[in-house]
Parts: sequence; C-alpha cells; structure tokens
Amino acid sequence: MLEIKELHASYGQLMALNGIDLTIRAGEVVFVVGPNGAGKSTLLKCISGLLKPRSGSIAFAGQPIVGEQPERLCRRGLALVPEGRHIFGTLTVEENLRLATMHRKDRADVRADLERMLKTFPILEKRLKGAAGYLSGGEQQQLAIARAVLLKPSLMMIDEPSLGLAPLVTDQVYEGLRTLNESGLTLLVVEQSTSRVLDLADRVLVLRNGKVVKTQEADELGNGDTLEAAYFGYE
Ligand code: ATP
Repeated sequence: MLEIKELHASYGQLMALNGIDLTIRAGEVVFVVGPNGAGKSTLLKCISGLLKPRSGSIAFAGQPIVGEQPERLCRRGLALVPEGRHIFGTLTVEENLRLATMHRKDRADVRADLERMLKTFPILEKRLKGAAGYLSGGEQQQLAIARAVLLKPSLMMIDEPSLGLAPLVTDQVYEGLRTLNESGLTLLVVEQSTSRVLDLADRVLVLRNGKVVKTQEADELGNGDTLEAAYFGYE
C-alpha cells in the first residue's frame, strides 16, 4: 500500500530524514517510534504532501506521490491526524464530524460510517451537540481520529495519539484504533515512547536522527527490550 525508498528531507541546511525505507501492506499497523526530534513528524509530512522531500520515492497504492498536493492525496485515500488534533473548537462535535463528510457523495454510507464512529468512540455520541472546544484532550483525540476516518482513507496516519493523555484515556484511544484496524483500516502510527506498541503493532521502526535504526516484526517484539535498547541507543 505504501512504499518509501531512500527518503531524504531537510529544513534548509538541517537534514531531518537521512534515507528512510518503509513498506506498509494493506491491513497492517505500523509504528514509528523515536525520541524528540528524530524526524517522525517530518516523515508524516512528506507522506501527506505537506513537505516536499529532498530526494527518494514514495509510492501509494502503486503510484508515485511525491510532489502531489495534500488535498489530492487526501482524496486518494491518505488521511493524517496531525499532532495537536486541529479540531474546530467553536463547532459542535457533530459539525466537526459532518464537515469531514462534505465531499462524499455516498450519503447512505456516510450515515453508516457516522454511526460506526459513534459506536467506536461512544464518548462522542454523548458530546455530539456540545462545542468541540470543551472536550478533554482524550475526547478531542477521538474526535480527530473519527473525523479522519470519515474521509474514507485506505491509509490513516496518526501523529502521537497518546500525547498528553492519561494512561486510561490512552487505552480508550488505542481501543478505538484496534477496532478501526480490525475493520480493515491500515494504520501508520507515530509515538514518542515504545510503551504502547506491543499489543497493536505488526511492525515497529525505531527512528533516531532521521534514520531507521531498528525494524521489528510483531513476532520479534517479545517484551520490547530490544526495541527499547535501539530507542536509547544501547545496542
Ligand atoms: P517530536 O516528537 O518532538 O514531534 P519528531 O520526531 O516528530 O519530534 P520532527 O518534528 O520531524 O521530529 O523534527 C526533526 C528535526 O527537524 C528536528 O531537528 C526539528 O528541530 C527539525 N524541524 C522540524 N520542523 C522544522 C521546521 N518547520 N523548521 C526547521 N526545523 C524543523
């Protein structure tokens, strides 16, 4: 579904990505973890068309996508839930969700998808008529994810879904992600810590200084020790 080869990206003189290779197959959950400044958000920006890489290739569903506009990529099935969530605080939860479906012509499916999102994230149903700005951080994260799903992506990328959330709230968000994946959605999740990856990941990449320093498949993860060693640079 996604194939990245030798991706390099920079901000002026600063090289943020130094040759990333990444393959994601349909139905997988792939995590990219790494410390602050490793290049995780930059990777998502390159895939979603927000930043033009310096070199390298990205293919989505078999087609090269470098240089394409973010809106076009979104319509082709790539959705990004950015860090900070970016929901519309003065609109209600329902309005935020409906906005995401505006471009869709399949109205019957939209209704079914909306219902599915309210089942996946029950708190949103409770808050449906309230202003999204009054939601807690965890609720906003669930809204941001639900909204992205309503764009009908085939690959959804999420930047640090657990950022700033209490462990119990993070559990709810991750439960939702699991349900979405079980219904067939392919996920690329970026996280700063390795603590959440073991249950859900099919593959984990550890990123440091713009390079992949470790890749592990689900059956190699064990208790996460090797992953952590790579994360902290102990190996
Ligand atoms: P975090 O967990 O803090 O979000 P990250 O792994 O997502 O970190 P990036 O945000 O991709 O890391 O940053 C990679 C490098 O690029 C860092 O050195 C960062 O300071 C730099 N950087 C990121 N965005 C910009 C920008 N807009 N202009 C200049 N440098 C940037």
